[in-house]
Amino acid sequence: MSTASASNFWLRDIPRQLAALDAAALRRSRRTVEPLQGAHIAVDGRPMLQFCSNDYLGLARHPALVDAACAGARDFGVGSGGSPMVNGHSTANAALEDDLARFVQLPRALYFYAGFATNASIIPALVGAGDAVFSDALNHASLIDGCRLSRAQIHRFAHGDLAALESQLAACTIPRKLVVSDAVFSMDGNVADIPGLLALCERHDALLLLDDAHGFGVLGPEGRGSLAAAGLTGDKASPRVLYMATLSKAAGVSGAFVAGHELLIEWLLQKTRSYTFATAAPALLAQALQASLRLIEHESSLREQLQARIAQLRAGLQPLLQDTGWRLLPSHTAVQALVIGGNAAALDLMEGLRRRGLWVPAIRPPTVPAGTARLRIALSAAHTDADVEQLLAALGELALLPATTS
Ligand code: PMP
Repeated sequence: MSTASASNFWLRDIPRQLAALDAAALRRSRRTVEPLQGAHIAVDGRPMLQFCSNDYLGLARHPALVDAACAGARDFGVGSGGSPMVNGHSTANAALEDDLARFVQLPRALYFYAGFATNASIIPALVGAGDAVFSDALNHASLIDGCRLSRAQIHRFAHGDLAALESQLAACTIPRKLVVSDAVFSMDGNVADIPGLLALCERHDALLLLDDAHGFGVLGPEGRGSLAAAGLTGDKASPRVLYMATLSKAAGVSGAFVAGHELLIEWLLQKTRSYTFATAAPALLAQALQASLRLIEHESSLREQLQARIAQLRAGLQPLLQDTGWRLLPSHTAVQALVIGGNAAALDLMEGLRRRGLWVPAIRPPTVPAGTARLRIALSAAHTDADVEQLLAALGELALLPATTS
């Protein structure tokens, strides 16, 4: 042990903690990625066909977005220079908020610099000590952190179990109640029962916060998202719903927004710490996002391409399911979960695909429940028919091999 670490708790402790992560096969590492063509990338310099990007419509490198971002940088500079409450709220950011509200057919929208920070901080802005929050067991980590940070009483209900939620709500005498759910679950790809959740919120006077990170741009008419797909926007919009979506996935950029009733948004503007005390998203991103919204709204061919790839993958996987015991979870979104079961088997399959030039992430507990390790196949309008065929052929080969020889 060096003299530096002998007298320094942190330099002694971190190696021990890292060794524990290594022993549990939970140590993470990063790879550097460079774009090639479409869904083809170079990973640490090696060409790969990826099925892991959240760029569901293939917009992240679209020339219209790149041009808008460049024009934004020329007009506004690169950084925003401050909090939106001081000098960071550019005319581009303001125009984007108006566009977002119009697009999702809700009264008002607030644009944030990042999705994770949005969830982690809007929940504490809505509920605090003495209040109650009800959270689906499969909610995204950012919603879970938001619930914890709020210091409200947390009621976790089994995934999609509205009867369980109903009894928790019925037993709760606290007036300020918030129900929180992913609209599209990020590791399964299924859609929440939004009308069912809203009906319970109506019956028990609760507010509903929906995170549509994976539905915005993909689902609903013109990609207006899961709430529009459920027919609950425009004239049918409920003042009980706060709709949140990230702009880092189908929109192809980064950041997030929350939309809903004028008063709810005004309250979030007053009370959300990551809004007030963080630097606003740069105007160049707001400009790129305006270009992205126009494409999402008018280029329905992007969603048609994505839906064609989803149908192709699901049909092509069917013959592999019988012999292997693999399960394909029900999903009509870009997220397709192929449940393998054991952790080692899922990793083995990922490695077999990697050797064949395909990058599909294996997701293991604790991110997903024990015994449901899976390949999370993310599809995009940037995938071609041939790309999906290549994945199906590789999975077909691997399905025939004993697990350890992939
Ligand atoms: N919510 C969900 C459901 C997500 O999947 C993610 C990102 N993976 C986030 C929020 C966080 O969004 P961002 O990555 O844009 O910060």
